[in-house]
Amino acid sequence: MNQQKMFDEIAQEAAKCSRCGGCRSICPVFLEENNENTTPRSKARMMEAVGEGDLELSPGMQERFAKCLLCKACKVHCGSGVGTDALILSGRAALAEKNGIPLVKKLAFTGLRYRKIFDLFLRSGALFQGLIFKKLPDGHGRIARFPLPGAGLSVRRVIPDLASRPLRSRLASILKAKGTESKGQVVFFTGCTLNYIYPAAGEAVVSILTNNGWDVIIPEGQCCCGTPAFTTGDLDSSLALAEQNVKTLAEAGGDYIVTACGTCGAALQHEYGQLLAGTASMEKWKTIAGKVLDISQFVLQYCDLTQMGSLPLKVTYHDPCHLVRGMNVSAEPRQILQAIPGLAYTEMTDANRCCGAGGSFSASYYELARQINDKKIDNAEATGMDYLVTGCSSCRMHITDGLSQRGSSMKVLHTAEVLAMAYAAGRKEQAYVK
Ligand code: SF4
Ligand code: SF4
Repeated sequence: MNQQKMFDEIAQEAAKCSRCGGCRSICPVFLEENNENTTPRSKARMMEAVGEGDLELSPGMQERFAKCLLCKACKVHCGSGVGTDALILSGRAALAEKNGIPLVKKLAFTGLRYRKIFDLFLRSGALFQGLIFKKLPDGHGRIARFPLPGAGLSVRRVIPDLASRPLRSRLASILKAKGTESKGQVVFFTGCTLNYIYPAAGEAVVSILTNNGWDVIIPEGQCCCGTPAFTTGDLDSSLALAEQNVKTLAEAGGDYIVTACGTCGAALQHEYGQLLAGTASMEKWKTIAGKVLDISQFVLQYCDLTQMGSLPLKVTYHDPCHLVRGMNVSAEPRQILQAIPGLAYTEMTDANRCCGAGGSFSASYYELARQINDKKIDNAEATGMDYLVTGCSSCRMHITDGLSQRGSSMKVLHTAEVLAMAYAAGRKEQAYVK
């Protein structure tokens, strides 16, 4: 699309904004900072002026557009139907094209395109992480030994271990259904965080699927879903990653594609449609987008809940933004958790409010992200439950940090880990995940 056509469309979308200010009451960033400059309304007004040629894309706009979690709450809340998330992304992309992307990010996104080099880099990182990050005495993560401002890591922030062996290197690329005739084939798109940080959650997904009679295919050619590059405005890198994944998933075939991260799932289902419009990969994308399901949706539709055994955990659930507002998944995880015999479930207040992670937002604005997260921790702890369950590794990381800062005993698990434990209990096996 030529730039003038893009700007015309942006101006048209932004012009739908009636300036009612309703989005201010829902925007987590505005609620903390009370600054009109970073409201969705203000961003829509700026993009309208840019589209009409009345405003230059100045470096000063960079911070205003960066201060957004892309939580989509404003979009869902807007009575005028303004696509605020698309406007913000367009703003970031236009700013990136005009002013460039910080070198560290550009190098990281370019590195993502070279799957094997990226893999080697993270495997080496796992070997040497102890030199830069020391383990916490309680074993629940690491903190930096010295400030790393360029990486957005203060010495206070608790981060998880990089796995000594990534998920995809632990598992075969085809795993057969267990103890029964196969019901069909499920392609598992692991995403980066399950692969390199939370492999136990990925193994839980595979355990659920194979024990419910599904063959699992884990295609080797899959790479990062591209969201970090896309949301930063690096359209070249995100397009390259989208094309690689669409090619890989189309070749893998399978009856369904399962994700266990709302961000990856929403990218495969929706964002790729915007990115790939007008490219040769668009038709292939259409064949895969309709097959994508979050693991909680898949379990509810295609797995046998009666096979789950007793699991006496006390849990609450946090809705990841991209799962609830990107993939429209909120009832499914709750239904499944509440179907587990012996499990006590208590809903938390504002369960679908952003936890403050926002991808690289929490690295760029750690203190602000902490303030937003504190509300989540307050609400989670008020339930009196022992576990917070969620379906996104980025939320998991940020909430774990928040709990750790408080010295809370509450722990965070992925929905799939809880389900795998319940199925293991049903088979009278030792708990799959502790
Ligand atoms: S974006 Fe929507 S909710 Fe926000 S000011 Fe505009 S019309 Fe109102
Ligand atoms: S996406 Fe979320 S953080 Fe960004 S402007 Fe909208 S409500 Fe605020």
